[in-house]
Amino acid sequence: MNLKLTHKELVNIVSGDVGTFPDLPIDIIYYDTRLINTSRNGAFFALNGRRNGHDFLQKAYDKGIRSFVVSQEVELPNDATIIKVDDTLRALQQVAKHHRNQFSYPVLAITGSLGKTTIKEWLYFLLADEFNIIRSPKSFNSQIGVAMSLLEMTDQHDFAIIEADISHPNEMEYIEDMVSPTLGIYTGIGHFYADNFESQKVHAAEHLKLFKYTNITFALSEHKSELRRNKVNAELIDIEDWKTIDFSQLSYPNNRIIALHVANFLGVDKEELLKKVHHLPVLSNRMEVFEGQDNNLIINDSYNIDIDALEQALSYQFSSDERKDKIVVLDLSFVEEKRKQAILNVVNSYAPTQLFLIKDNKVPKELLEVKNSSILFKGSYRSRLKETVLLFKNRKHETWVEFDLKSIEHNILTFQKKLPKETKTLVMVKASSYGTGDVNIPHFLQQLGIDYLGVAYTDEGTTLRENGITLPILIMNTEIDAFEDIIRFQLEPSLFSVAQLEAFCKRLRQDKITDFPIHITVETGMNRLGFYPDELPELLEKLKTLPEVKVKSVYSHLADADNTDDNYSLMQIQRFKAMKKQIEEELNYPILFHILNSEGTSKFGKIAAFDMVRLGIGVFGYTSTAKKDELLPTIRWKTTISQIKTIQAGETVGYSRTFTAKQEMKIATLRIGYADGFRRSLSNGVGAVFINGVSCPVVGNVCMDMTMVDVSHTACRPGDEVEIIGENINIETFSKRLNTIPYEVMTSINKRVSRIYLR
Ligand SMILES: *Cc1c(COP(=O)(O)O)cnc(C)c1O
Repeated sequence: MNLKLTHKELVNIVSGDVGTFPDLPIDIIYYDTRLINTSRNGAFFALNGRRNGHDFLQKAYDKGIRSFVVSQEVELPNDATIIKVDDTLRALQQVAKHHRNQFSYPVLAITGSLGKTTIKEWLYFLLADEFNIIRSPKSFNSQIGVAMSLLEMTDQHDFAIIEADISHPNEMEYIEDMVSPTLGIYTGIGHFYADNFESQKVHAAEHLKLFKYTNITFALSEHKSELRRNKVNAELIDIEDWKTIDFSQLSYPNNRIIALHVANFLGVDKEELLKKVHHLPVLSNRMEVFEGQDNNLIINDSYNIDIDALEQALSYQFSSDERKDKIVVLDLSFVEEKRKQAILNVVNSYAPTQLFLIKDNKVPKELLEVKNSSILFKGSYRSRLKETVLLFKNRKHETWVEFDLKSIEHNILTFQKKLPKETKTLVMVKASSYGTGDVNIPHFLQQLGIDYLGVAYTDEGTTLRENGITLPILIMNTEIDAFEDIIRFQLEPSLFSVAQLEAFCKRLRQDKITDFPIHITVETGMNRLGFYPDELPELLEKLKTLPEVKVKSVYSHLADADNTDDNYSLMQIQRFKAMKKQIEEELNYPILFHILNSEGTSKFGKIAAFDMVRLGIGVFGYTSTAKKDELLPTIRWKTTISQIKTIQAGETVGYSRTFTAKQEMKIATLRIGYADGFRRSLSNGVGAVFINGVSCPVVGNVCMDMTMVDVSHTACRPGDEVEIIGENINIETFSKRLNTIPYEVMTSINKRVSRIYLR
């Protein structure tokens, strides 16, 4: 969010009452003190929701906020500016409306009771090449969520997709007024009309108020009468128009059709859409996936139990091959009677291996005995099913690293936007996907519809195949011993010498294999692997006599793409072009050419993408040349405090007694050490961690499994979370403290650190 308001303007927008008018800038609005980031100029709105925001004013003040919008008499220190209004939520919506009106690009609003988030995310995916889209995060669709989504609009965007939902009569008017949508999508009400409405018709009518002034609203033709009755200017979508697609293996065919139709209306070719319909990403609300005890894979979606989210979770669980047995655990307390059966029908339609219905976190013995399975936990937030999930967590070690898959997806789309449309994407998943874990990220990439994966060594490729990865896999560094596995697992070797090529063909001949896909590595200046230009004639002659193989691609690698001086890279690209020409003259079948890694794609995506790019570190959000804020960070590394001690002046801390206290101080012992990848060179103040928002330096030497930090100035308790890498310490900062680069940090987080994947 970057609002560029002044305090004075804010007062005018919300028609508030205030004594003084300081010209404080305001870039960001907060309503939850947990989200406050002190480096931004913020205003805090005290909303009267489930919790009364007025109870948190002092906390917001302590975190550095000086502007407050309130609706009660409040007491705050003198330097706080307080704006008093009648209704803080309406005031927030006024700011959102004001902000939205700064922009004239199309705003597409989606409402209905089903499928909103899915359609929004799929449209985003389908339109990402055409528009720079701002969209509501997750299913942020409430009175507050819509306002916060609108506040994210900037002049860098050229299209907005906003999701809206209501739970009470007369709420939509406020949303309509703030969003002023120019386009709409209505997904229908289904049988799940909310209890606060007297009938389905009334509920539908309330939703349709959103489209009072839209130019066009899209809906499936089955909603025709609802739309007519409420005088909505609609374009009806006929399912028959998309009957050429085989939807039998695809989830949510109707949602897919809506997304396709609207994307087509907005200018995406039908051809293009038909290609993409099979690759629409599987979506979910904040679902967590992690390795549990007894080799179980835990899918924790215990935050809500709406049918849409349930279907998404189930389709994720059942589409992934990571574990054969699929267990579903439901807690249906707090679910209305009439919805219970609908939920059970959905679950049973997937035919899980076992279904457990539990209540009050009472866990049946048979559930505790489950092994080698994927277990989906699903319950409403109020059911507190999360506590049961904790029992299944691998709790060997309370140090973990989280990977944000949504941000990974964002980063990939950001790179793809820099490329010509036809360019394919290979993602390098070598070294367990840069240390993120063996198969989770590759599975996610497969679902996203990436074209190719690349690994360094053959056994990395076999691990992927054994875990259900079906994408083509390029092996960078082919070993002679690995030919058996390469053939057996349909991996695609890179070859970099004629001797190697001949040996491989000899092996292929034994099995009478022809046209086996191979890749040729050419040397343009990295001086690592590959054929030099003067070796090409011999190679090409040889290839013509070897029917056993077919060259699928030819590639080279940039040595200096992270340098601000582009000359060396441009020279390599020129050399590559010359070699490409030479190869194309001799081999007359289609071959993919590629040379760009993440950094190269950022810089030369427009001029040197050739047929494919090979992304790596950039997928995780780290390159030195991408524009600031363009890529999102994806990694958080956390640990916990095991004990806190008070020591006196003169006492020492840790091995070799390298630290002596100058005064009384409070020391916390953390559950992380150099064996986890928190290296010993971070000892004695070189490293620091964040605890409850405060930086705490390392004292003494880092031990193998533990580290001591100074918490004299931090309120904390044993068990509190500790940030190693995250919002306060980014991976670049952490790497610099170790005199290394993010690549090495990522790949040195030890295997014993649990991995959690946020969807
Ligand atoms: C690792 C690697 C990449 C990816 O590089 P990043 O800098 O992580 O984007 C691409 N190509 C080759 C040959 C690689 O070894």
